Amino acid sequence: MALFMGIYSPPLPFPMQQPTSRVPSLHSGATQLPCFSTTLSSPVMMPPIQFTNRHRRSAILHCSASSVETATVEQRTKINTRRDVRNIAIVAHVDHGKTTLVDAMLRQAKVFRDNQVVKERIMDSNDLERERGITILSKNTSIFYKDTKINIIDTPGHSDFGGEVERVLNMVEGVLLVVDSVEGPMPQTRFVLKKALEFGHAVVVVVNKIDRPSARPDFVVNSTFELFIELNATDEQCDFQVIYASAIKGMAGLAPDGLADDLGPLFEAIVRCIPEPVIDKDGALQMLVSNIEYDEHKGRIAIGRLQAGMLEKGAEVKVCTPDESCRSAKISELFVFQNFSRTAVDYVDAGDICAVCGIDDILIGETIADKSRGKALPTIKIEEPTVKMAFSVNISPFVGREGKHVTSRKLRDRLYRELERNLAMKVEDGESADTFIVSGRGTLHITILIENMRREGYEFMVGPPKVINKRVNDELLEPFEIATVEVSEEYLGSVVELLGRRRGQMFDMQGAGNDGTVVVKYKIPTRGLIGLRNDILTASRGTAILNTVFDSYGPWAGDMSTREQGSLVAFEDGTTTSYALASSQERGQMFVEPGIDVYKGQIVGIHQRPGDLMLNVCKKKAATNVRSNKEQTVVLDTPLDYSLDHTNFLIYAVVLDTPLDYSLDDCIEYIQEDELVEVTPLSIRMCKNPKMAKKTK
Ligand code: GDP
Repeated sequence: MALFMGIYSPPLPFPMQQPTSRVPSLHSGATQLPCFSTTLSSPVMMPPIQFTNRHRRSAILHCSASSVETATVEQRTKINTRRDVRNIAIVAHVDHGKTTLVDAMLRQAKVFRDNQVVKERIMDSNDLERERGITILSKNTSIFYKDTKINIIDTPGHSDFGGEVERVLNMVEGVLLVVDSVEGPMPQTRFVLKKALEFGHAVVVVVNKIDRPSARPDFVVNSTFELFIELNATDEQCDFQVIYASAIKGMAGLAPDGLADDLGPLFEAIVRCIPEPVIDKDGALQMLVSNIEYDEHKGRIAIGRLQAGMLEKGAEVKVCTPDESCRSAKISELFVFQNFSRTAVDYVDAGDICAVCGIDDILIGETIADKSRGKALPTIKIEEPTVKMAFSVNISPFVGREGKHVTSRKLRDRLYRELERNLAMKVEDGESADTFIVSGRGTLHITILIENMRREGYEFMVGPPKVINKRVNDELLEPFEIATVEVSEEYLGSVVELLGRRRGQMFDMQGAGNDGTVVVKYKIPTRGLIGLRNDILTASRGTAILNTVFDSYGPWAGDMSTREQGSLVAFEDGTTTSYALASSQERGQMFVEPGIDVYKGQIVGIHQRPGDLMLNVCKKKAATNVRSNKEQTVVLDTPLDYSLDHTNFLIYAVVLDTPLDYSLDDCIEYIQEDELVEVTPLSIRMCKNPKMAKKTK
């Protein structure tokens, strides 16, 4: 194989027959390797490496899968590739260093002017993403490495944003899979890799954070390789290139102990191992719209990779829907992605990713095609939603106090507008005029919408998430997820018990390191995950880490009980008092502190027993509040009777517990069938659903 040529070389056929017996291919290699030089640094000669089989596999740059489809002789004469362009999606499990790596790639490609102040996490550009530290929306950027333009699409890793992932994978020929050098592949790595392999894409594995003292690159490469096999990767795909990197230091190399001073080896691997985009250079114009952005002035902007022909500013085109019906349109403006911004251009050649303005009714999945000869490309396949939630107008007595948009018309318009961009989401009108059923790929998918809406000034209520079951050949199927829990041995027993009660089936258990941490993997019904995060945190005193990812539909696993405790519910409208809370907290854990406005039916705490309990949290009896050490001590007029181990005590003063501080996600996990979460721009409250009022004690 020509290792150091500037073009993509097709891979050598992989020799193994049985998937289980596959081992990485061995290349007879030099013991002194040139580390690829870039304009970033001068060529570096790496020191001789003592090769293990694993190192041989990674220390020589070899390339893997090609997505070039088989073509007829006639087609082949017309089909060509763009040598000067690479389109890649960059994916990682949360916190494995994707954003840091992209930051470093952009910095080293001199994307910034020398005096420009650059904030971190450049690609996580929306507030919610920065706050949660996750990628929710895919984002395009590009850099130039030598003469090659590398279009990079930052891609969410969580399966709840699978719709976004599927669209992005339509625009690229390869994937940069970033894996932490200690943790190895995690559920989100698995999810995106599965999708990328299904698309037939080439994968470059970046073992990141190699600078960590506990880095275990061999283990990580082995487990990634096993994951490829498990996901039925082709032999070519299994022969992936590994790059070791320290994104934080901006260094990469072909061996864990031989990093260059910059990311040159990574750029080089992208250019050599990610196939050039295949284009139909003389074909009629065709571009599949894979993403939509909005601009206040330009309106709807369609984004996609130009498959065939040339796109020109001002051109008259056809917009074809998947069912082959077409309408006429005109391109008003045309952009390519350069660095972080869109750069206006007069024309774009096939193979590049571009943004098109002027077609106000364009939808994702439609094809922008030649005016006379154009045909629709196969549309984007998106998996079905697995979870649904009811959105309704805010019916609490506090409606309109904090939000701008409160009517059912506004709520309806906003929800249906979401569908234009969020392909994996569905919205239907509910049973009543002011209820809408929103279905998504998981609770997080819908929670992000809720969070965005409250930031936009909406007030509304949401019901508990419900999984969407299917019936196939008269058999009831429900969605299952893979749950990975990292927990210290001490709490393993309680976590295993919790997962068992929720019908989880353990299929793997491994020690993660010297610190007594165990990693257990379960297949568990999606409905078993509702409320699980809180329960696992409680069972492990806040130490366990839970990750989940959608797996597949499977036979209904049977009944299960999730939340055992009832709610403490406010008995009347009013303002909470220390006096009332002092006795209320005897009944469970409170959500409210003194001086908070509450209304009748609001959930103010978690009952320590099953069943709900009405409480008067606004009772105003003479009581003296004494503040000490930030805790609130309530001196009681009437001492409380308290019994412990058959001994009775009289309590004269009570220290108020710090109330539970539940986030939006926690509240959504907490509520039961007859409960709602009230969402406003400033508050998140929970209440009993007045339409489903049942007798509380
Ligand atoms: P993302 O969620 O995949 O985008 O991960 P981030 O880029 O936000 O990184 C998560 C954390 O890992 C941050 O605290 C980074 O500073 C840290 N990190 C990223 N790359 C490296 C690396 O190469 N070495 C070390 N030691 N830490 C890193």
